[in-house]
Amino acid sequence: MGRKYSQKKFETDAIRRQLKKTDFLEHSVPLYITSSFVFEDSEDMRASFTEEKQRNIYSRFSNPNTSEFVDKIVAMEGAEAGLTFATGMAAVFSTFAALLNSGDHIVSCQSVFGSTHTIFTKIFPKWNISTSYFKVNETDKIESLIQPNTKILYSETPTNPSVDIIDLEELGRIRKRHNLILIIDNCFATPYLQKPIEFGTDLVIHSATKLIDGQGRVLGGVTVGREDLIREIYLFSRNTGPSLSPFNAWILSKSLETLAIRVDKHCENAMQIATFLEAHPSTNMVRYPFLNSHPKYQIAKKQMKLGGVIVAFEIKGGIQAGRNFLNALKMCSLSANLGDTRTIVTHPASTTHSKLDLQERLDADITDGLVRISVGIEDIEDIKADIDQALKCS
Ligand SMILES: *Cc1c(COP(=O)(O)O)cnc(C)c1O
Repeated sequence: MGRKYSQKKFETDAIRRQLKKTDFLEHSVPLYITSSFVFEDSEDMRASFTEEKQRNIYSRFSNPNTSEFVDKIVAMEGAEAGLTFATGMAAVFSTFAALLNSGDHIVSCQSVFGSTHTIFTKIFPKWNISTSYFKVNETDKIESLIQPNTKILYSETPTNPSVDIIDLEELGRIRKRHNLILIIDNCFATPYLQKPIEFGTDLVIHSATKLIDGQGRVLGGVTVGREDLIREIYLFSRNTGPSLSPFNAWILSKSLETLAIRVDKHCENAMQIATFLEAHPSTNMVRYPFLNSHPKYQIAKKQMKLGGVIVAFEIKGGIQAGRNFLNALKMCSLSANLGDTRTIVTHPASTTHSKLDLQERLDADITDGLVRISVGIEDIEDIKADIDQALKCS
């Protein structure tokens, strides 16, 4: 195994946690492109299938590259165990599907990722699993939504696309009082900025596609947390097959080596863009967790190390101004991803949330002029200049 690093510092874990070296003594970890693994003899095979032996059998169950990747996330989040998935949505779906039975109930924040919302509202009802939603600013109503059959309390923070903050400590208290399983999608913060397990969260989910890859290349997902729950999710997934490819796991594990330095730079740029937009005459409102003006500034400061990569703002002039702004951008990308090295801009009311009517959009805090920027790590002056010239054209 080589020298052991006494897992102390976040960046050291991210860089030095690595698979056992092969006889070649490679410095960077090899890619294990293999669908299955061989056994020494029939006894080895028997003991492996009964799990008396912990080893790789088949890459749908586990693979050295997926194990290395998840071991790092487990350490970074302060979790007991974890599992990788082909996408963030595979992680969300498999986690819930493994833990819930027909008749169970979920209490969830209303502002969750679009596909997660679709799973709760359109897919789970087929199996008699129901969901009640609370609004971001009505966490005081959560307890009134809890029923005898409520099993899971679920949220994201910061939320997408309106960059609201949910108090993790408050959710942790409610979880304890009602003996629920608290699950947090930590995709927007990454374990570098926020560790939900410290506030009593049972399971943390990530779309690794976003900041963990951070360079817009591969899809991936991960769930980490309590060992007993991860075991149930593992048994479900090993049979249903939402597994992460070893190639993607290799990319994602290498990406973690630069997570801290990338996220630091993203947050530094995002803070500058937020300050710039707040002073700009073409905006009505700017939402960034580490701006004094954010309604949950104190909570953001309590649970996050820095403000994150997403800045939302309200452009003067509504839907048309939002579309004009997007059309006038010269450098920033129009794309559905986020957390990429490149700055990405979206206008939810005319794109991702255009199927909702006005009231539904307002319930999710999406006004007609809301623009979301995933601030990249290009030179800050170039990002500012592009946004400024596009605001002048809108
Ligand atoms: C993107 C995203 C997901 C889904 O992840 P995929 O990798 O695209 O499947 C889930 N939750 C949040 C908060 C996301 O941003």
